[in-house]
Amino acid sequence: MIKSLLVANRGEIACRVIKTARTMGIRTIAVYSDADKNALHVKQADEAYRLGPAPVSDSYLRAGRILKIATDAGVDAIHPGYGFLSENADFAELCAEAGMIFVGPPPAAIRAMGLKDKAKIIMSKAGVPVVPGYHGDKQDAEFLKRKAYETGYPVLIKAVAGGGGKGMRRADKAIEFDASLEAAKREALSSFGNDKMLIEKYVTAPRHIEIQVFADSHGNVVHLFERDCSLQRRHQKVIEEAPAPGMSDEVRQKMGEAACDAARAVGYQGAGTVEFIVDGEGGLTTDGFYFMEMNTRLQVEHPVTEAITGTDLVEWQLCVANGEKLPLAQDELQINGHAVEARLYAEDPGAGFLPSTGRLEYVEFPDNVRVDTGVETGDEITPFYDPMIAKLIVHDENREAAIDKLQRSLLKTVIAGPKTNIAFLLELSENAIFRSGTFDTALIDDNLESLTGPEDIDSRLEAAGIVALVRKEQARISSKVTVSSPWSLNDAFSNGQARRQQFKYVVDTEERSCPLIFDGADIHVLDSDNTPIDPPPEYNVVDTPARVYILKNGRQLKLEPYIASANVAGSGDSDGKVRVPMHGRIVSVSVADGDAVDAGDLLFAVEAMKMEHAVVAPHAGIIAECVVVIGQQMEDGAVGLRIEAAE
Ligand code: ADP
Ligand code: ADP
Ligand code: MG
Repeated sequence: MIKSLLVANRGEIACRVIKTARTMGIRTIAVYSDADKNALHVKQADEAYRLGPAPVSDSYLRAGRILKIATDAGVDAIHPGYGFLSENADFAELCAEAGMIFVGPPPAAIRAMGLKDKAKIIMSKAGVPVVPGYHGDKQDAEFLKRKAYETGYPVLIKAVAGGGGKGMRRADKAIEFDASLEAAKREALSSFGNDKMLIEKYVTAPRHIEIQVFADSHGNVVHLFERDCSLQRRHQKVIEEAPAPGMSDEVRQKMGEAACDAARAVGYQGAGTVEFIVDGEGGLTTDGFYFMEMNTRLQVEHPVTEAITGTDLVEWQLCVANGEKLPLAQDELQINGHAVEARLYAEDPGAGFLPSTGRLEYVEFPDNVRVDTGVETGDEITPFYDPMIAKLIVHDENREAAIDKLQRSLLKTVIAGPKTNIAFLLELSENAIFRSGTFDTALIDDNLESLTGPEDIDSRLEAAGIVALVRKEQARISSKVTVSSPWSLNDAFSNGQARRQQFKYVVDTEERSCPLIFDGADIHVLDSDNTPIDPPPEYNVVDTPARVYILKNGRQLKLEPYIASANVAGSGDSDGKVRVPMHGRIVSVSVADGDAVDAGDLLFAVEAMKMEHAVVAPHAGIIAECVVVIGQQMEDGAVGLRIEAAE
């Protein structure tokens, strides 16, 4: 019996596992990197132990250190979550050798499915349909090109060791083949240390439909139906749902059986997912699906399956790990309603979905739906880990009601700080093709412009931000005896007369200015025709010491006071140390560890002698050891942060 469980992971999945373990009365042990010292998963566990510095190779991938901690803490079992060590057969073996249960399949099953080429060979033998193509050992470029020709263009060139959508390139015609092969190999070598490739027919109108399987140590294998994960960007899932739109009982049964066959073929135990690529042209058919790969772990999107089947898959995992029988048999499992999951990422959809880092100044989720997250207000999205902020999981009677609920939930979500994909998810959930259920994996790419469109932020929202910023400055100034602010706003409300004044501010990084009218306690923002702009009826304001965020419908506007460049006083040493130019109080910090900056970017501002002094980056690089904190008094010459020159 598992009485204590170490969770060898972080973020939302660590919290997710801890939650179930606690309800089962299991003692929970967390591990953390320096970046996660105060993370939710650490707070939620009964005990927590440090792994090392932030980079994954120094922390969450340190198998030896994790095993040592587990042994010292006397745990019975280790849950690896997803990513990191979850599909590492050597780690699973080491757990067993150390006398602990690895909550996952037997190492041999992980190995059998670990490489896509070997897995396809096993699947073909077991009678599971695989994508046509070449998955043999011969690797010279000419030979692979001939195989691509025989397979028929378009083809997908795929790293056998690939994962997370990396190491794959599509080639539409022979002339593209060499360059695509090169690129795929290069990416695979750097990401997985293995550049062996396979060639697959590129399925037209591809839909990604996967089957959740479960097996116990008594020979029972069941499937918990399908999930449709066709909404992808960069071959990575964004919205997942269950059941799949347009799925018939007949096709579902066929795919479910094939997935169970796949699990049996490798002696599987525990939770696993068999991913199929489905030819969506002309609907789902019993002979139109092909095995793609098996993920030998709990999947990010497992909650949609839990929602429609009323199960707790982590509980199932722990039961199987305890040597118990599966809680339900195939004929006891049923689909109830429809569930949709949206992954909230700290990223910029308008800039190629580039991850966005920084402090989460404010985080608020809807309270009537399931939200799986590992962060809260004040936490940091660092460049070290996956930038997923949370998963919103909605469940309702049918698909339409579920998507409506997702939209309402997204509208209620407020995240200030890093850029997020909330507005993008809202657009997506309104997209007519998505709504119709006839989409394939190309939907996002094909509609990128309309989904990410230029952030057409209402000038009324900006007006609201300006007013909030001015009020903030007024409050700051009125708390002082003598005043010298770049804005001199104190004059504005000193007498009862309406007064007009030009106001300078910064939106994101753009300097702007507008006329304001101060009329008693009221502030009006004027447009270029001198007409007052009314703020919108409903919006959220997040006020931080350095700036204000105005949020509405998943859009975020960041406004900061304009700081005159005459006050700029940067002082950087050759070793990258940036010092505080004078004794004073830090009034704003614009960067955090890991941020990339260009020469001249604002780093922090110090207030002294009634003046704000902006400290800017003396050269480009990456912020390290950022010690300045808003509100802190610092000595003249103290090191505020360091900038590591970018290579
Ligand atoms: P899924 O199909 O469930 O999205 P992926 O194979 O793409 O599965 O990855 C699962 C999750 O694990 C993703 O969220 C990914 O970001 C994360 N992940 C994958 N590999 C690693 C890794 N080496 N380190 C950290 N996280 C990882
Ligand atoms: P990973 O291990 O990176 O998850 P997969 O083999 O699961 O790699 O493929 C990831 C995604 O790439 C799929 O979800 C699908 O969108 C696309 N894809 C993979 N194989 C094919 C194919 N043969 N034809 C069309 N699209 C494919
Ligand atoms: Mg996959």
